[in-house]
Amino acid sequence: MKERLHQIRREATTLIEEAEDEESLESLRIKYLGRKGELTTILKGVGTLPPEERPQVGKLANQFKKEIEEAIKAKKKALLGTRPLRKEGWVDLTLPGRNLPLGRLHPITQVMREIIECFTKMGFSVATGPEIELDFFNFEALNIPPEHPARDMQDTFYISKETLLRTHTSPIQIRTMTGARPPLRIIAPGKVYRCDSDVTHTPMFHQVEGLLVDRGVSFAQLKGILTAFAQAIFHRDTRLRFRPSFFPFTEPSAEVDIECVICKGAGCRVCSDTGWIEVLGCGLVHPQVFRNVGYDTEEFSGFAFGLGVERITMLKYGINDLRLFFENDIRFLGQF
Ligand SMILES: [Zn+2]
Repeated sequence: MKERLHQIRREATTLIEEAEDEESLESLRIKYLGRKGELTTILKGVGTLPPEERPQVGKLANQFKKEIEEAIKAKKKALLGTRPLRKEGWVDLTLPGRNLPLGRLHPITQVMREIIECFTKMGFSVATGPEIELDFFNFEALNIPPEHPARDMQDTFYISKETLLRTHTSPIQIRTMTGARPPLRIIAPGKVYRCDSDVTHTPMFHQVEGLLVDRGVSFAQLKGILTAFAQAIFHRDTRLRFRPSFFPFTEPSAEVDIECVICKGAGCRVCSDTGWIEVLGCGLVHPQVFRNVGYDTEEFSGFAFGLGVERITMLKYGINDLRLFFENDIRFLGQF
C-alpha cells in the first residue's frame, strides 16, 4: 500500500507540473483529492487495513494529500502570472478608453462653405467649371485682349496654345451665360492657378466668383449685396469702401476694401496704417462680354465680383502667413 501511495504522489506531482491551465489543474484535483479521488479512497480505506499498517499508511496518505494540495496551489499561482491579458471573448472593463482623434475641415473649406452659404441665402446658385480651361473662356470671351499682362507666360500655366490652367473662376461666368438666358444669379467657387510663388502668393489658391444678370441691374444693388456679404462674414458693423479700378471684363470696375479687422480703422501694420484692407474686385459686366455670349446689352445688365478665399480666411482668423494653409500642420489645422 505504501508503494501505491508513493506512486500516486510521483504521478500527481508530474501531472501538476505539466498542467497548462486552471481547468486541467482542477481536473487533477478531482482525480486525486475529490470525493472519489484516488488518495481520498485510500484514506477512506485505512480502517480496513491490518492494525499494524494503519498508522503509517494514514500518516503517509495525509502527508501526500497536503503535498498535492500545496503543489496545486503553487501551480495555480504560477499560471496566474503567465495568463495572457486578453483572452478570446474577454474584456478588461477597467482599462481606460481609447481616444479617437477627430478630423476637422480645413479652414479654407470652412470659410468657402460659409461664403457659399451666405450667397445661396441671397438666392445665388453654385456653378462649377473645369480647372483645365480653354484660352477662349479664360481670356478672350472675358474681353482680355492678347496683349493684356494677365496673359503673360509668367502668370499663366499654359498646357498648349489653346488650353491652360484657369487663372480665375471667371470663365464659369461665360460658360453659364452661353448655356442659359437671364435672369442669372450664380457664384462659382473653385481652385485657380497662377505661375507665382512667394510669401504672399501660391501657385494654387481658391476664388469665389459671383455673377448676376437681369433687367435693370445697378451698381447700388452690387454694393448692397457685397455689404451684406462682408457683414455676414466679418462683423455686422463692418464698413466697406469702393475704390475705382480697372478690370477688362467689367465697366465701371471697383476694388472693395473693408475696415481693418485688426485695428478697426485706426491704422496698424496689417493695413499699412490706412485703416482699410482690400478684399475683392467687382464691377458691372462689360458690354463686350455680353456681346461675346450673345446677350442684348440694351435689354440686360449685370454685375460680377471675385474674391480670394485664402485672403478672407486670413483676415477672418488673423492668420499672418499664407503658407500655413498649405503645410497642413495638424497643430495649426486643429485650431479651427
Ligand atoms: Zn489695421
